[in-house]
Amino acid sequence: MAEQHCPGFESNKSLAEIKIKCPECGRESEIFSDEMDKKITCAGCKNTFNPAKCKID
Ligand SMILES: [Zn+2]
Repeated sequence: MAEQHCPGFESNKSLAEIKIKCPECGRESEIFSDEMDKKITCAGCKNTFNPAKCKID
């Protein structure tokens, strides 16, 4: 299945998309590689966590 890209995605092509999983509720989401050193707020349970420890490979 092909990935869907938003218009304007090409301007961010230096950034990799990284899949992460919330350690609290297990909800998966995607972030860009420049967000790896930030705290991520889960859209599901509002837990904040470090994405570098919650990557899905
Ligand atoms: Zn969560």
